[in-house]
Amino acid sequence: MFKEFAKGLSITLKHLLPGHSTTVEYPKQRLEIAPRFRGLHRLVPAQDREKCVACYLCPTVCPAKCITVESEENEKGEKYPRVYEIDLLRCIFCGYCVEACPVEAIEMTSAYELANFKRGDFMYDKARLLKS
Ligand code: SF4
Ligand code: SF4
Repeated sequence: MFKEFAKGLSITLKHLLPGHSTTVEYPKQRLEIAPRFRGLHRLVPAQDREKCVACYLCPTVCPAKCITVESEENEKGEKYPRVYEIDLLRCIFCGYCVEACPVEAIEMTSAYELANFKRGDFMYDKARLLKS
């Protein structure tokens, strides 16, 4: 029994040594984000507009039903999202919207510091998503 106790204690003491810490001093220190991390969404811009063609695939596949798209045609007869909104309070960051998009118009960034004070600030409209 003493042997097991000593073994457990040695593991604990090992983590007290410099360089063996399992935590970081956030926000001074930040962990490296995994390449496939799914953070805040971003609408990809094209030349003079967003790449999105308002096909409604992403709101259709979204399991949380947190994407709102309203399409309209521009003067060239091209469809574009007059309204594109994501309610981050409902989003489960599954990435299905990104997978479903036929024109790669939406992607997920590594941004994870998404805390806010007001519920309304979790509603990301087209302008915010183009900037994120
Ligand atoms: S990540 Fe998932 S839950 Fe969030 S908007 Fe995309 S499809 Fe919906
Ligand atoms: S982001 Fe992609 S999937 Fe969603 S409406 Fe636009 S074009 Fe369609």
